[in-house]
Amino acid sequence: MSDLNKFREDTRAWLDANCPASIRANKEAAAESQFTKKRRSGDSVVWLERMAEKGWVAPTWPREYGGGGLSAEEAGILREEMRRIKAPPPYMGMGLTMIGPTLLEFGTEDQKQRHIPGITSGEVHWCQGYSEPNAGSDLANLQTRAEDQGDHFLVNGSKIWTSGAMYADWMFCLTRTDSSVQKQKGITFLLFPMDDPGVTVKPIRLISGESPFCQVFFDNVKARKDDLVGKVNEGWTVGKRLLQHERNSIGGGGTRMGLSVGVVDVARQYRADDEGRIEDPLLRQQLIQHQINSQAFALTNKRIMDEAMNGQTPGFTTSMLKYYGSELTKASSEMMVSMMGPQGLGREDPEHYSNQELEITRAWLFHKALTIAGGCSEVQLDIISKRILELPPY
Ligand SMILES: Cc1cc2nc3c(=O)[nH]c(=O)nc-3n(C[C@H](O)[C@H](O)[C@H](O)COP(=O)(O)OP(=O)(O)OC[C@H]3O[C@@H](n4cnc5c(N)ncnc54)[C@H](O)[C@@H]3O)c2cc1C
Repeated sequence: MSDLNKFREDTRAWLDANCPASIRANKEAAAESQFTKKRRSGDSVVWLERMAEKGWVAPTWPREYGGGGLSAEEAGILREEMRRIKAPPPYMGMGLTMIGPTLLEFGTEDQKQRHIPGITSGEVHWCQGYSEPNAGSDLANLQTRAEDQGDHFLVNGSKIWTSGAMYADWMFCLTRTDSSVQKQKGITFLLFPMDDPGVTVKPIRLISGESPFCQVFFDNVKARKDDLVGKVNEGWTVGKRLLQHERNSIGGGGTRMGLSVGVVDVARQYRADDEGRIEDPLLRQQLIQHQINSQAFALTNKRIMDEAMNGQTPGFTTSMLKYYGSELTKASSEMMVSMMGPQGLGREDPEHYSNQELEITRAWLFHKALTIAGGCSEVQLDIISKRILELPPY
């Protein structure tokens, strides 16, 4: 038996023995994956603790920081085996998808030892302090200041659209340390705890009544010198690399992104005759084209990941994955809502809409945001034209 076959056999046995039955194929448990240990209960805690002990919260990260030390192939097998038993991810969040991989690449040994184990154990939640009211697509325009005070920096200013800031323990933050140079050259990448007395978090209520975002204000917030990532005024390089990790995680999510059904399931339910045939030739053509695009994207994604060194996040190609992946996801939920007709318009009315219908309509609204978060589609097209196609500026 090859090493990988043996690994699959062992992994299957371990998962069967250790993944609690109550959380398999369980939507609430899947939603809890975004929470740290202290915000969970029951078997979701058991699952996180067992996976963390095994190092499988971050399967490919080095063992010395609580990772699993798996190769890219082994991590792929682990994902397949988890899918097979419908196990939810043990933990998700910006620690795992953004700051963790960035610290592994740019952090000092001390920063890795202090910050990575909190991520691999699912105990420390991170938020992203990038966007400001006048620095979204033009991120380098950011104005939140950090002043060097000898053994620490003092941070003043404000960030906006900070997802999950109300639950976060730490923030990774882009700050301005020099205003006299080209804007990209005066930026510094800092980490600081959210319980600093100078941090104020104000949730932003959306039209839906929910509040995934916050505005965060800084009034003389202290960031320790040893929580400076990279060098002073060279934070743009670190910050851009982090965005590549973010874009990779948004783009690579697949067209279902949190949905239990796909376009073909919805077409069968709402637009097929008694024998399961879809009469409308135009719809058939749209469905086939969408499936071809999804397959082509999944294969391209896989090829890019296979070609990337040691399972590392690729570079500028992440803009291509982010652009196409998020637009495809948006197109798939738009198709679903359109096929559902009036049943696709419910948001909070369980009497007239099934759970699945409500789930699809909410996903349709959320999927639009995916084409904006992590840099809007137009910004990704700019990067692709400049950095991948090397087209001349217009
Ligand atoms: C779901 C979600 C979660 C987010 N979470 C976070 C977070 O945790 N932390 C954080 O820091 N930020 C977060 N953001 C903010 C996100 O990074 C910004 O919304 C994004 O970068 C766009 O910036 P903006 O909203 O200021 O839009 P703007 O920059 O004002 O852009 C508005 C529109 O103008 C057009 N446009 C802008 N620039 C160009 C261009 N160069 N070429 C052509 N058209 C252009 C585009 O159509 C764009 O959609 C989140 C956003 C979303 C939607």
